[in-house]
Amino acid sequence: MILPANNKSIIQAPTNREGRKKLSKKVILDLIFRRGEISLTNISRTTKIRPGTVNVLVQELTQEKLIRKKGEGRSKGGRKPTLIEIDPTTHFTVGLIAEEKRMSGGIVNLTGAILHRRELSNQDFSTERDYIAAIADMAKELIGTLEDRESVLGVGIGIPGLVDREQGVGVYCNYYDWWRTVPVKSLLEEKLEISCCVENDTRAFTIGEKWFGLGQEIDNFLYVSLGDTIGMGIVIDGQVYRGTGGSAGELGHTVIDRHGPLCKCGNVGCVEAMASGLYLQEAAEKLRLKGVYSAIYEKLSPEEPVSIARIMDALALGDKVANKLIIDAGTSIGIAVSNMVNIFNPRLIILSGYLMDIESPLIETIRNSIRTHCLSKPASEVEVLPSERGIDSGILGASTLITAELFR
Ligand SMILES: [Zn+2]
Repeated sequence: MILPANNKSIIQAPTNREGRKKLSKKVILDLIFRRGEISLTNISRTTKIRPGTVNVLVQELTQEKLIRKKGEGRSKGGRKPTLIEIDPTTHFTVGLIAEEKRMSGGIVNLTGAILHRRELSNQDFSTERDYIAAIADMAKELIGTLEDRESVLGVGIGIPGLVDREQGVGVYCNYYDWWRTVPVKSLLEEKLEISCCVENDTRAFTIGEKWFGLGQEIDNFLYVSLGDTIGMGIVIDGQVYRGTGGSAGELGHTVIDRHGPLCKCGNVGCVEAMASGLYLQEAAEKLRLKGVYSAIYEKLSPEEPVSIARIMDALALGDKVANKLIIDAGTSIGIAVSNMVNIFNPRLIILSGYLMDIESPLIETIRNSIRTHCLSKPASEVEVLPSERGIDSGILGASTLITAELFR
């Protein structure tokens, strides 16, 4: 949960009574969420809110069907304490990740369980209208799985590229040449008649890792996605960092070789142009044209392009060409990530994206690169781990764009 460690200080922030009450309710709800179950006495003890006030606020939260009684806890002699938990049956959100080629969504309850899922893969949206229609259709289908539409609080969506979160606008996305300023939030709210919230996709995954994944107990970490593109989410002191204009985390466009190849962004030597999934496919294609022999090409007809699946299959067979491609990419990514480790001194780097889906020497190469290129202190303090939740981090992170209003 993205909250300062010391709850007391934020309860004191608003000066009017109504504001204080609202914030106290959020703090209580957040605590119940994090603990799973807790007694009234422990709520009061932990939040420093007076027991009488806790009683009243818990009653209100129960009436709003956000929490419920779970039963009785253990007693040390006196009356058994009543335990409270988040009600997982009354309020839901839709969390949806609309990446360049894949769309994944789910119905999420208030405890972060994904109840129903939908997936669209290998899509290439040729217009803004197609893209928005596909998101709306998936959200409608998911909402349709619930008995009561009114139980849906809203739809959170992670989209690629630069996002103006306040306005709910996708400002720029270099993957689609048709993408100008796309008012995703207003277009979807018109179609769905429900509150929508938009965030950059990598950042949605990062929020998912903070709330539900490996980042839960960690205040400083980086989330690195390795797919067609290379992106990064940044968490500093428990907060997601967005930067002045919301474009923070463009790891893919950090230059690691000033004589390197041309990147889609117009620059040369960006790590994305030297190590992304798209780069690997292009590099394998070039070797094929040169007549290099590899298991990558064995099952391909002459017209069929090289896919990541073919490279990974060849890798599993011990193919030397595939192995070199992955090691070279890992070394390049490792250099870029090492720079980030020197700058941010994170405790953890979470790696995700389809390049991490299959067992490969990639993660070990990145770890080696950090050991080689980083200053020894930050290198010794950082752990590099694959995400345990994969696409679910994105779905959950997108859903919290809506529920964060309740909890924070
Ligand atoms: Zn670039």
